[in-house]
Amino acid sequence: MAALVNFMTALSDGAIHVIDLTAPLSHETPILELPPEFGQTQRFELEEISRYDARGPAWYWNNFHTGEHTGTHFDAPNHWATGKDKDDIASVPVARLIGPAAVLDFSAQVAADPDFLIEVDDVRAWEAEHGPLPAGGWLLVRTGWDARSSQQDAINADDTGPHSPGLSAECARWVAQESPVVGMGVETVGTDAGAAHSFDPPFPCHSHLMGSDKYGLTQLRNLDLLPPTGAVVVASPLPIVTGSGSPARVLALVERA
Ligand code: MN
Repeated sequence: MAALVNFMTALSDGAIHVIDLTAPLSHETPILELPPEFGQTQRFELEEISRYDARGPAWYWNNFHTGEHTGTHFDAPNHWATGKDKDDIASVPVARLIGPAAVLDFSAQVAADPDFLIEVDDVRAWEAEHGPLPAGGWLLVRTGWDARSSQQDAINADDTGPHSPGLSAECARWVAQESPVVGMGVETVGTDAGAAHSFDPPFPCHSHLMGSDKYGLTQLRNLDLLPPTGAVVVASPLPIVTGSGSPARVLALVERA
């Protein structure tokens, strides 16, 4: 009976603090751009309904327009063909939205090589130091990409396509099929590496995670404020009925050392 009382006491006295892992959501939020033959996601846009004016003298409110996969957002299993018969975003069990975080920092490697790919051995090396990936938890990948808030910087494309870090195809398969985490969170605009269209399978993080009833979180920030183990992630996508994902507020709870 005392668990929540103790939790609230820890929050109010600062023993536990809350870190926002969410990027601000605006027209400036970078989005994925697919080859022109495919459908495109929309930028986030606000459409003012009224602002203390003749359209509504005492109130301010907006409509908003956005893709499901814009900014800090949650990929549901049905986002990918491999998970098409699995949960939509409204059906994801809420208990799976809260879980322990394993934070793996590859920002030094990525600074030297924006196409850096994380391999199973890299995760194994982290486990050798910090213990196994947590059951029901989130694998959070720090790359330094959270500093890239403009479209151009986030996509980092040149003549040869987008260049951004991610998991190798084998590492994506291993995380999805052999590790006990429920999902993976990244600082980039999608869970897959920039070059992942050419991997086998293409976009292996999406293919394997969604196909294994697991989840993705993107455009996270402040991962540098988290310890390698011990933080708790709270992800809160909107329950869009039949939806494939949703912008989400993602928080981390961290115990003060
Ligand atoms: Mn997505």
